[in-house]
Amino acid sequence: MSREPVKIPKADILAIDDTPENLALLSQMLTEKGYKVRSVTKGSTALRGAKAAPPDLILLDIKMPEMNGYEVCQHLKADARTRNIPVIFISALGDVFDKVKAFQMGGVDYITKPFQVEEVLARLDTHLTIRNLQLKLQRQNIQLQQEIANKTAAEQKFAKAFRACPNPIAIATVSEGRFVEVNDSFLQMSGYLKSEVVDQTIEQIYSYSALEIYTKTLEKSQSQGFVRNQELEFRTNSGKTKIVLLSMELIELDGIECTLQIMNDITERKRLENEFISLVSHELRTPMSSIIGALDLLKSGQLGRLSDRGNQILEVAIRNTERLIRLVNDILDLERIKSGKISIKRVKCDLKPLLIQAIEVMKPMADKARVELRLEHSSMRLNLDPDRILQTLTNLLSNAIKFSEPGDIVWLRTTVTNSLQHKVTDINYCQIQVQDTGRGIPEDKLETIFERFQQVDTSDSRSKGGTGLGLAICRHIIERHNGYIWVESTLGEGSTFYINLPLT
Ligand code: ADP
Repeated sequence: MSREPVKIPKADILAIDDTPENLALLSQMLTEKGYKVRSVTKGSTALRGAKAAPPDLILLDIKMPEMNGYEVCQHLKADARTRNIPVIFISALGDVFDKVKAFQMGGVDYITKPFQVEEVLARLDTHLTIRNLQLKLQRQNIQLQQEIANKTAAEQKFAKAFRACPNPIAIATVSEGRFVEVNDSFLQMSGYLKSEVVDQTIEQIYSYSALEIYTKTLEKSQSQGFVRNQELEFRTNSGKTKIVLLSMELIELDGIECTLQIMNDITERKRLENEFISLVSHELRTPMSSIIGALDLLKSGQLGRLSDRGNQILEVAIRNTERLIRLVNDILDLERIKSGKISIKRVKCDLKPLLIQAIEVMKPMADKARVELRLEHSSMRLNLDPDRILQTLTNLLSNAIKFSEPGDIVWLRTTVTNSLQHKVTDINYCQIQVQDTGRGIPEDKLETIFERFQQVDTSDSRSKGGTGLGLAICRHIIERHNGYIWVESTLGEGSTFYINLPLT
């Protein structure tokens, strides 16, 4: 069964005229053109109808008994429900028609009888279009006001959080690095007055080393939107050094791109940590060296033969002691690199022998795990500390082997590129890639594994013999070379670690 399509009327018109013939004519003419027409012969009935269901437009005869058109219009304009409905007056040619009064009463136009179809339709069309545009504008205005109200509320919340936050926070422009706003916690931590910071540049407030880290953090924020917990040394107004973790996000303030820098003062935590480190270095290293010496002596058989069971237990003791020594050494290594106690001695050298050496060092481990190491290199000379870069490469290769399956291949590749984490730069880099087809790394761990003691799985240190410090050491070494290290990975398919070292 076919259904008649439902026609939506063009507009709802209320026609008021005391002459039924006129009304019938108007109604027929407009209905034919697709309008919905309500016809009324009396002013009072029209007012009731208009209030009950406001039409889109009113055609109103002037000369009517009881209540004339001007009066009806006056009533319509006095009521909020009908005030904005456009009214077009109808007057007979011979009538005394006061145009000025008609407009004063709030009419938008007039038509003279007898009607000319085209004229009536044209006028109707014009005023309905104006009315629709008015309504649209009103709606947009309401929406705009709502948006402004929401924005103001959000700004007020942000301002409150900014003021009350116990963490030091600063906002600076991206282009010039000029401070726009700082909170009280920032002033307390830095020892500056607000007037001494606002309008100054980052260079004037941050120390040289902090500035270097700020610049790198900004670059990273621009490529990935935010950076969390970048450690830096902040020099206070009185010259004291504070250790802070800087988190950065890009925001827009009054149309200007700015950095939101949230800091976490960890000076006290660091002091305790350093105390612990020195305790570890002095109190653990020496006895552990003597334990391993004693165990080796036992293993050599010079003190008598052990039973098979005894030998097994000795092997376990040696493995675990070696792991402890590795952990202590890694902790000390990381601290020394971070504190600058180990200087990075860069010399111009060829990368190729280093890559070959890294493969040779890791070959026994790879053979044991039945993983194949492949090298694909191009010869490149660059400024680097060979020992530290070798340490980084062996660490990455060791991880790649650890997290691969027997029969897998691990690639060590080099290439020249000007791209950094998929962004084209104007610097040429030597890029080293360590690629495996192992278990992969979940997306939310791609950044955290470069932090101390961070592992994808807490059992990794036990099952794979790691310390969770290797990548943190690698990142520090590479950053001290003004380079970048990051990882891209697909779970179950493998990981590629990238190192970009500037070619200068
Ligand atoms: P670890 O001594 O535990 O290997 P790292 O800092 O070198 O310490 O690595 C931290 C963690 O990152 C590892 O424990 C592991 O969970 C993850 N990881 C590192 N490299 C890889 C890799 N190639 N494939 C999968 N996971 C990896």
